Amino acid sequence: MADVLTELPGVGPSTADKLIEGGYLDFMKIATATIGELTDIEGISEKAAAKMIMAARDLCDLGFKSGVELLKQRQSVWRLSTGSTELDTVLAGGIESQSVTEFAGMFGSGKTQIMHQTCVNLQIREKIFADLEGVVEEELEAPKAVYIDTEGTFRPERVVQMAEGAGIDGQTVLDNTFVARAYNSDMQMLFAEKIEDLIKGGNNIKLVIIDSLTSTFRNEFTGRGKLAERQQKLGRHMATLNKLADLYNCIVLVTNQVAAKPDAYFGVAEQAIGGHVVGHAATFRFFLRKSKGDKRVAKLYDSPHLPDSEAVFRITEKGIQD
Ligand code: ADP
Ligand code: MG
Repeated sequence: MADVLTELPGVGPSTADKLIEGGYLDFMKIATATIGELTDIEGISEKAAAKMIMAARDLCDLGFKSGVELLKQRQSVWRLSTGSTELDTVLAGGIESQSVTEFAGMFGSGKTQIMHQTCVNLQIREKIFADLEGVVEEELEAPKAVYIDTEGTFRPERVVQMAEGAGIDGQTVLDNTFVARAYNSDMQMLFAEKIEDLIKGGNNIKLVIIDSLTSTFRNEFTGRGKLAERQQKLGRHMATLNKLADLYNCIVLVTNQVAAKPDAYFGVAEQAIGGHVVGHAATFRFFLRKSKGDKRVAKLYDSPHLPDSEAVFRITEKGIQD
């Protein structure tokens, strides 16, 4: 049932209409908005916005949580296999929901292949791991993926090839994967914001992919003078993605390019683009590099509860494997 926005202090029917028009359809959306976002709506003052947000937070039960409650929330985390058991092991059982996971690496290191593979694996119930005390089976029924492609590298035929490699029908995977080609950062951000509409329209979106997260930003905001603006926009985009992961128990995957950075000790090192804005928003961060033949090495670093470690996987015709 829809939340009645007029229950919030200072919200009459006309403000409620404006909020709805602005995409604030329920208490949760308001509870997690910033004052700046709400004052963008005509007729809402800073003071009124603050009041609305606080009241919405109360209604949504947002605030301090006990350790027990947090543990319960952790139990609703489910995991998806990458296709490589070694890589899954580094992640303590697969890619986690309620988190943003980043795969960074040079061209050809396998980022896009992993993104394709997860779309396939999402359609295979045995590749999804969930504690059924914390997750209702229904939540994982008919899961769908959203693939925001900013580099034009999504290939349906590769999805079909991987699906057949895994012994399932490729058409099923394609039917359950929404693909959007974003030509610039505005489109990319808009598509990410529209995912909530897809969910509200009855699509059980459980996987969100941005391949690549940073290329549009990097192309559009060049030079020092544009850096602050770029990081601010990227920060907003990351916030949208984190909210999706949290509110809808989704997996969010982003790919990232690397840039050479001069390093005081080793001469040149590589680092993921986006700096702290991306670093703080992504819970799991991987660095991918090429190894011999079809082998790739994935290094996990900076995780809040997992040790830094490496996994070797392969990219074969069938997909991501050990
Ligand atoms: P990026 O990190 O740039 O996104 P990709 O994920 O596109 O890199 O990886 C490209 C690599 O994946 C290719 O170099 C190739 O080794 C491998 N690859 C792509 N398609 C196939 C396929 N059908 N069969 C086997 N390997 C493939
Ligand atoms: Mg790629």
